[in-house]
Amino acid sequence: MAGNRTFTMIKPDAFEAGNSGAILKMIEEAGFKIVAMKATRLTPELAGKFYEVHKERPFYADLCAYMSSGPIIAAILEKDNAVEDFRTLIGATNPANAAEGTIRKIFAKSIEANAVHGSDSDENAAIEGNFYFSQTERVI
Ligand code: GDP
Repeated sequence: MAGNRTFTMIKPDAFEAGNSGAILKMIEEAGFKIVAMKATRLTPELAGKFYEVHKERPFYADLCAYMSSGPIIAAILEKDNAVEDFRTLIGATNPANAAEGTIRKIFAKSIEANAVHGSDSDENAAIEGNFYFSQTERVI
């Protein structure tokens, strides 16, 4: 059975552009409840740890530099079938391929600066949520 939580980040490009509020509104209107949230900033080392699975990819160094280039918002979201439904809401990694009306289609600037992160599995949603939020920060 699919889990009911996923993890998201509003990435530096969207935060810097002042799109955090509009993106959070789309997330809530799609039926997700925000159960933990904070504005924070990754160091290059922490960005490297978060994206460790991509360390052999050619874009890894750029991705770590970009993800630590400015503030982000990290949040845990709750909804039935959370992981899959959120991936549908955000759209394809490359905004050029993202469906109309998706968050990345509307707000992403490029395949790298693509506005939002969404976990790709229940297992990673739990790992990523734990990466950002301690037990005491997850009171809901
Ligand atoms: P996601 O699950 O849709 O976020 O995509 P991936 O897990 O494949 O990639 C993680 C992140 O790396 C993406 O969200 C982008 O920010 C970045 N990324 C993915 N592919 C590329 C690429 O080809 N070039 C660059 N510069 N960044 C990429």
